[in-house]
Amino acid sequence: MDQRIERVYETVVTRNPVEPEFLQAVREVLESLEPVIASRPEYSDMAILERIVEPERQIIFRVPWVDDEGHVRVNRGFRVQFNSALGPYKGGLRFHPSVNLGIIKFLGFEQVFKNALTGQGIGGGKGGSDFDPHGKSDMEVMRFCQSFMTELHRHIGLNTDVPAGDIGVGGREIGFLFGQYKRIQNSFDAGVLTGKSLSWGGSLARPEATGYGTVRFAQSMLGTEGDSLEGKTVIVSGSGNVATFAIERAQAYGATVVSCSDSSGAVYDSAGIDLELLRQIKEVDRGRVADYAALRPTAQYHSGKNVWSIPADVALPCATQNEINDHDAARLIGNGVKLVAEGANMPSTPEAIEAYREAGVKYAPGKASNAGGVATSALEMQQNSARQQWSFEDVCAKLDAIMIDIHDTCLATAENFGHPGDYVLGANVSGFQRVADAMLEQGVN
Ligand code: GLU
Repeated sequence: MDQRIERVYETVVTRNPVEPEFLQAVREVLESLEPVIASRPEYSDMAILERIVEPERQIIFRVPWVDDEGHVRVNRGFRVQFNSALGPYKGGLRFHPSVNLGIIKFLGFEQVFKNALTGQGIGGGKGGSDFDPHGKSDMEVMRFCQSFMTELHRHIGLNTDVPAGDIGVGGREIGFLFGQYKRIQNSFDAGVLTGKSLSWGGSLARPEATGYGTVRFAQSMLGTEGDSLEGKTVIVSGSGNVATFAIERAQAYGATVVSCSDSSGAVYDSAGIDLELLRQIKEVDRGRVADYAALRPTAQYHSGKNVWSIPADVALPCATQNEINDHDAARLIGNGVKLVAEGANMPSTPEAIEAYREAGVKYAPGKASNAGGVATSALEMQQNSARQQWSFEDVCAKLDAIMIDIHDTCLATAENFGHPGDYVLGANVSGFQRVADAMLEQGVN
């Protein structure tokens, strides 16, 4: 890194000493920015880097709630409003025991550049809680969501900050959160949350969007060499919203998807994942992938293992951060993987990314390839403002166009800066420039 960028990074390390994921996300972006900082001195003169790594606002709050036994429980809630240069803060809420301020800051930081890449006028933010919805009753989840929103409502708004889902926050949670917001505000502000149910302001294809978009992005990457997903063997990690719709879309493109996973273990299904069965187990029974393998004759379950040792042409990590380390990357490469496109946020460690680069594996970072989720959230906001509901085909066509545009922008930027095929540089530089130029025009704030 050049000296000026290194100094900015050192300040971030000093200010945020116990937030490894945040430091990792910042470092990855800063490392890409050397050529753009060198060619645009006004960015340095106006301290754009120093400002862009510091969230505009960080909110931490107590979330007390009562469980089914009548015991009072206390969780911690977060909302990090990272950057509003391009529009209202936008980004999901994550409910997972691993959530802490550093995790939310890394996600918020990634979101700033991801949202800029969509070209839709949305700033970046993220929030969540260390609450674990697993094993909780619907009523417990409701009471938690109501308590969470009782504090969060004062910080969000249609034109201020628009949360959505992430890990542990799906349609059920968004419903409870919206109900409480509406009650407190006495106002049906549909566009204050996205990922809503269809009948009260949700968008068709929003559930599908992150997984579909990731696969559309992978298809474009292969398309640069006249190739496609047709006939490819694909491994997917995870079994939640992003993973299941990535599997669906990859299958629709003619690929065979042979894996899925959860935090307990991995499934290898030589015949290809039976999505109907997987959905029944995950969504209806709220079960585990082990249950899938038990019911599926062609599937094997590997307790405590991940999917990265399964031979494949294409890998789509759709679970969580840092799920592919250098060892996993070596396995993937040894088995001949040609492409990695991230459906999750920051699933590859820096060492894994370096290994892809050395081996010439095509690699798309999540902030580019998983942007379809938030892009469709912005389409949901548009529909809410216009009091319209677009058809599934219309939303999917817009989503595809956005993913193709992000792909082409990343590729063109990488080419312009002398790193052809480097989607990391392409995504970081083009996202950064959009935010930085808006910050310049809006003065020091
Ligand atoms: N949590 C998703 C993401 O990581 C979606 C955010 C949104 O729709 O606002 O981009």
